[in-house]
Parts: sequence; C-alpha cells; structure tokens
Amino acid sequence: MSNSIPQTPDTLQAAHQATEAAEERFELLVNSVRDYGIFLIDQTGYIQSWNIGAERIKGYTAQEAIGKHFSIFYTEADQARNHPQHELEIAIREGRYEEEGWRVRKDGSQFWSNVVITPLKNKANQFVGFAKVTRDLTERKKMDDLLKNANAMLEKRVKERTNALSHINQQLQDAVRVRDDFLSIASHELRTPLTPLKLQTQVLFRNICKKSLSELDDERLEKMANTCEKAISRLSNLIDNLLDVSRINARKLLLNYESFSLNEMCEDLLERFKSEIESYRSEAHFQSEAEIVGTFDRIRLEQVFLNLLTNAAKYGAEKPFQISISQIENEALIVFKDSGIGIEKSNIPKIFERFERLDLNDSVGGMGLGLYITRQIVEAHGGSISVESSVGTGSTFTVRIPLNASRK
Ligand code: ADP
Repeated sequence: MSNSIPQTPDTLQAAHQATEAAEERFELLVNSVRDYGIFLIDQTGYIQSWNIGAERIKGYTAQEAIGKHFSIFYTEADQARNHPQHELEIAIREGRYEEEGWRVRKDGSQFWSNVVITPLKNKANQFVGFAKVTRDLTERKKMDDLLKNANAMLEKRVKERTNALSHINQQLQDAVRVRDDFLSIASHELRTPLTPLKLQTQVLFRNICKKSLSELDDERLEKMANTCEKAISRLSNLIDNLLDVSRINARKLLLNYESFSLNEMCEDLLERFKSEIESYRSEAHFQSEAEIVGTFDRIRLEQVFLNLLTNAAKYGAEKPFQISISQIENEALIVFKDSGIGIEKSNIPKIFERFERLDLNDSVGGMGLGLYITRQIVEAHGGSISVESSVGTGSTFTVRIPLNASRK
C-alpha cells in the first residue's frame, strides 16, 4: 500500500500547471540561446524542435528545419559514408557522441562545428530521441589553422636554417682539415730540402775549419754544389708557390703579356728539366704539327707547363708521357697525357683546390698547390683547364687558352 499523500484534483492541477510553467521557462531558455544550436531529433533522425541559435548557425528557420532529416546538415561525402546514422548509433551505444567536423548551411556554405548528441529517455526509461547541440567553431578553426600553418612554416624555416648551418659547419670543418693537412705537408716539404742543404754545408764548414778544402776533389765539390743548388731551388719554388697563393687570394696576380712561340717555350722547358723528369724515371714526348704563337705571360705559362709536366712525371708510374700543342680556331690547345696512377672520379674536382693532395702518404713530394695555381693562371688568361682520368690507366690534362689572351 502506498504511503504517499493522496492527490486531490486541485493538487493535481497545481502540479500540472507547475510542470507546464517549468517547460515554458525551459523552452524560453533554449529558444533564447544564440550561440548554440539546440534542437531535438526523433529516434530516426527527424528534427522536432529548433532554436534561434540553430537558425543563426545553419540558416534554416524553425519552419524550414522541423520535420527534415538532420542529415541535411552533412556534407555529401559524410552522407555517402552514412556518417549521420553512425553518430546516432554511437550516441545510443555510449550514451553520448561528440565530434568536430564540417557541416553545411542552408546556402551550401560549410562551417566547422562542434557537435554533441545525447540520447533522451522519458520517465519510463524509454528511448524517445536525441538532443543535439551544435557550436560554430569556424573562427576558432581558422585561427587554429593559421597557427598550424605558421607553426609548420616556422618548423620548415628552422629546419632549413639548421641544414644551412650544418652545411656551413661541415664546410668549416673541411676548411680546418685542409688547413691542418696543409700545415703538416708544408712543414714536411720545407724541411725536406733543408736536410741535404744542412748536411752539405756542415761538410764544407768542417773542411774549411780544418783548412782541408783541397782534400775535396773537384768532382765531390761539384756534386755538393749541385745538391745544394737543387735544395735551394726546391725551397724557393715552394716559397714562390706560397707567395702565389697569397697573391691569388689578394687578387694581385698580374700578367705581363708578350708574344712568343709555345713550341719554343715547351722545348726549352723540357731541356731545362730533363734531369728532373729523369729523376722520376719518366720521359716526355712532345709533338706539335705547327708552331703556335700567341700573347701570354711567359713566366706564368712556364709555371703552368712545369706544373703539368712535373705531375705527369711524378704521378706517371715511371712511364713516358705525351705533350701536344695545337690550335683550334683562336685558341691554343695544350694536352698532357700520361699513363700513370690516374685519379678517382670523385676526387677530380678536389685536385684544383688549394692544399689538396689526394694521398698524403705518397712518396712523391708536393704541397697540393700546383694545380690550384695552374688553374688560376689559365683562367686569368681567359682559358680553362680540364682533366679526364681513370685509376691505373692515366690522366689527360687539357688546357685551352686564347691565343690573344691580352685582349680579353
Ligand atoms: P702536388 O704538389 O701535390 O703535386 P698538385 O696541385 O699539382 O699538387 O696536384 C694535386 C693532387 O692531384 C696531387 O697531390 C695528386 O694526388 C693529384 N694529381 C695531379 N696530377 C696528377 C696526375 N697527372 N696523375 C695522377 N694524380 C695527379
């Protein structure tokens, strides 16, 4: 038996009136909310109520919206994948569904919305439909996207800067390595000729002190003088090369032009440096079909020839090498072809750089300056130098230089 207070018709009517008033107040509240679209949909998704916020956000009046299926607010793609129905199913299963996504207004434009769908049950716990609350987050989304883009751009720029910095860092490290290598090569190279020079001077000094110079026969004296001369000229060559590099760095490589025959110059050099070439157990063969005369800086061009022919002898694996001079249009074409150790393809760009030596432990001397200076001289004449090479087969260095370089 119920122990609740018995309801009279008056109290029942009062309760009914109170409920109606509460419902009215609630409807007023919902209807006056402008920032949220709040509406009810039935179990199958048809719209049953509509507030001012929903009208403002979606562009439909209550008259237009009520009775329509709520899928009209979804994009074609969402409709095609049956997304509205899935939302309702999840809401029933989990008691709530929330997402952010694109929705469509009456005029077809899209807006970014936050959607919450809640299944509704009556007092008897029967499922009667859904409450749907929608917010227009387009502005926030725009700001988010702007921020995201700005972030992505920033990240990209930071990445680019980092890459550039690590590239510069690598270049600096390479430069330091090249400098350190150079210092050790240069000190070794400068020291090498000093040893025989010191030795010979000591012998002479000892003999002079003992006043026994006459004990040294002419042949011995000549040999000693030769050794000293060679050492001195090697030292002065090395120092000249260093001076040339600083002149090139300071852009002070001045050329004094004169007209002369390349054939004569080459033959003269081969004669003067015959013994040096022989010291590498090599041999030079010179060929030219015609005399090539042009206007160049003689001393500098001699340097070019000398560097290339010394290299052909040094790195020529004790095999003969060829020098040829010819003319193509108004350019002299000078080719040094050896059959020596050759150069690996990846190393070819390096050899024309300052202080670059490919094998630091090789037995032949050098500071890695010859080809750098050679290229600078050739280019100062308006010409170019290139090389074709393969390891074990040999190298061919080709110099092209305008015959009237002074007019360039
Ligand atoms: P270096 O004083 O070392 O000879 P170069 O500038 O003349 O300096 O040459 C740079 C490097 O290029 C050499 O150390 C050598 O490794 C390589 N090279 C130059 N000429 C030849 C050649 N004809 N054959 C093979 N390697 C060569």
